[in-house]
Amino acid sequence: MEYGNHNFSNLQSDQPLIHGIDFKHPEDICISAMKGYVKIFTYGCQMNDLDSLKMCSLLAQDGWRETQSLKKADIIILNTCSVRQKAYEKVLSNLGRLRPYKRRKPSLVIAVTGCVAQQEGADLIERMPHVDMVLGTHQLHRLTELVHEILIRRSPVIDTSFSEEIPSLDLVPGKEFIRPAHRAYTNIMQGCDNYCSYCIVPYVRGREISRDYQHIIEEVRKYASSGVKEIFLLGQNVNSYRGGRTFPDLLRMINDIDGIERIRFTTSHPKDMSDDLISCFASLDKLCDHIHLPFQSGSNPVLKAMNRNYTRETYLGLIEKLRAAGPGIAFSADVMVGFPGETHRDFEDTLDLMERVRFDLLFSFKYSPRPGTRSAGFIDDIPEQEKLSRLRQLQDMQKRICADIGSKRIGRVYDVLVDARSSRHEDQVFGRTTHNAIVNFSGDPSLIGSTVTVEITRANPNSLTGEQIGAMR
Ligand code: SAM
Ligand code: SF4
Repeated sequence: MEYGNHNFSNLQSDQPLIHGIDFKHPEDICISAMKGYVKIFTYGCQMNDLDSLKMCSLLAQDGWRETQSLKKADIIILNTCSVRQKAYEKVLSNLGRLRPYKRRKPSLVIAVTGCVAQQEGADLIERMPHVDMVLGTHQLHRLTELVHEILIRRSPVIDTSFSEEIPSLDLVPGKEFIRPAHRAYTNIMQGCDNYCSYCIVPYVRGREISRDYQHIIEEVRKYASSGVKEIFLLGQNVNSYRGGRTFPDLLRMINDIDGIERIRFTTSHPKDMSDDLISCFASLDKLCDHIHLPFQSGSNPVLKAMNRNYTRETYLGLIEKLRAAGPGIAFSADVMVGFPGETHRDFEDTLDLMERVRFDLLFSFKYSPRPGTRSAGFIDDIPEQEKLSRLRQLQDMQKRICADIGSKRIGRVYDVLVDARSSRHEDQVFGRTTHNAIVNFSGDPSLIGSTVTVEITRANPNSLTGEQIGAMR
């Protein structure tokens, strides 16, 4: 089973939060409000990670404490992903494994949140009667209220309604849940209007809803004053943000906030990559030298069938413009193989695009049909073995590209924002460069949260190793 790594055992916070979650005085929580233990499992993307932190904060405020022990848990939450068939199956199989826990402890509350909850609704409880709560992606803010309802009524609750506004976008996790303490994730929007033919997101996250820019700025200011140095803006399609300002305007406003040193965002859609946004990579000193820009396929007929609304030529043009605006910028992307009708020639075009761009990091997937999407009606005609073989070929090529990019970084010097102690080597710490490479080097944990200059001495398959040459800032 996949274990979420959110630790919310420290309830002794007197940090008032910004919108929605307002912590009580620590003594109120510790003396009168300890209700039981919660275990939360998180699947999928960074947005789910952030939603889990928000749930942790809501529950902590209500008197629940985290446990790593399933046996001890009074509430178990699976915060789920259904973007690919495999992710969906994993959730169902893990839910099945919780049956014995419910048998042994009938008072246990099992809740399913996130995309599988939204997708399945009441059907999930019919298939899995040991589930007590199915909470959709627009209703996260109701979590504690619904836990109470279950505890009082002892019958399952389901809320998968969509609304015009998503209150949980404005919830901010307590300071003690921000790990590492110098990096905070901020929702700027949720949902998607793009309807790529293969994608379930518009159906499970709903239409695009942007958060008011003033709330975002207020949140970032508070983060900055509490020591956060890096802000990571999140949304399914951040560059179509419309919360009272354009996305580039929002970046410029955040760039002006004292204390913030780095700004990142994900995910961007190539069709919404405006010249104004590209120019931000030249003009904003805090915007990191990295962009995640999924291309999905290098073949025009496949891109058309995917309803992506750009061609390989436009995509390559964007890369060129971004490289001109921010020399040294690193690219990462998502790509799929085995989309219905993908010929060998189409696949070769994907490999060719990879060779031209030379991504620092690539997330590659085998296509799987998702219920309700347009491509679920296409014939899934690429045999599983062929999909696997294309995936392997693509990943082998990406490994070669990564090794080459890594070897060219040897001898170079980078600013590294130190994240944590290395789990493998006691005397080492690791952090990230502005272009998002992980760098390990010998150093004391007192460096965590500061930026140091490091000279790269070795390239590893997924990271770099270096030596600190500059003092901490
Ligand atoms: N908003 C992002 C974009 O525009 O590319 C993508 C978000 S999606 C949640 C994450 C990735 O999952 C996609 O970029 C795509 O590569 C992959 N994905 C989505 N649907 C898929 C499917 N039906 N089969 C395989 N991979 C899929
Ligand atoms: Fe899915 Fe396309 Fe929206 Fe990305 S842009 S979330 S791939 S529909």
